[in-house]
Amino acid sequence: MTNQRPQTPGRGAGSGGGRGRQPGGFGLGPEGECWCPRCNKKIPHKRGVPCYEEKCPECGGPMTRAR
Ligand SMILES: [Zn+2]
Repeated sequence: MTNQRPQTPGRGAGSGGGRGRQPGGFGLGPEGECWCPRCNKKIPHKRGVPCYEEKCPECGGPMTRAR
């Protein structure tokens, strides 16, 4: 059996990983926004914090998920 595998010249070329793409900008990310129904305030949603646990910076009320 002749099994020839091409040799890869080292593995430090520096092009690895496909995740690391960040959209340059502030807006509708995957996280969305939280919205205050009382005063119509919107804040960017924080990772790991549900909107209903956020408090509106304006009125201190509970926020809800906005689209
Ligand atoms: Zn509010």
